[in-house]
Amino acid sequence: MRPDFRGGGQGAVKRRTRRTEVSVVECFYHAGAPAVGSCRACLKGLCRRCAVELEAGLACPERCEPLVRAVVASLQQTLRFQSVSTGLLRSARGLWLGLTVVALSVGLFVVAWGLSLPAFREISLLGIPFLVLGFLSARLARNTRAGAERPGSTEGSAA
Ligand SMILES: [Zn+2]
Ligand SMILES: [Zn+2]
Repeated sequence: MRPDFRGGGQGAVKRRTRRTEVSVVECFYHAGAPAVGSCRACLKGLCRRCAVELEAGLACPERCEPLVRAVVASLQQTLRFQSVSTGLLRSARGLWLGLTVVALSVGLFVVAWGLSLPAFREISLLGIPFLVLGFLSARLARNTRAGAERPGSTEGSAA
């Protein structure tokens, strides 16, 4: 008995059928691995191995990660802008306090100067607007302080 060798047992070439199911989301980089989520930037499926977890969500490793980080950074910049406006309010309080000190000192100086000159006593009247201005700015400073008051200052005083 000689072995009957027929070339190729099964003549039919097995055709590769690629899975194109939409319902089952696979990782874009690792075929077969189930996706745990999709990239925030390119919406590709990411498995647990390659997904980079960011604050905003998942991202492709090294490809979309900088982009998503940039988006997060711009969001944080918007939040920082809001805190800047709060800081502006706080610095306005210092402005009013400084104006209070300057106006009161100038007013007192003008009044004392006018009173020291008997011939020009009317000069002391010029100090009154300064005193009024100092009083008003002191009130504004107090109001600003009440508005921008924040419990627990996070500013470290370490020089
Ligand atoms: Zn993967
Ligand atoms: Zn991506």
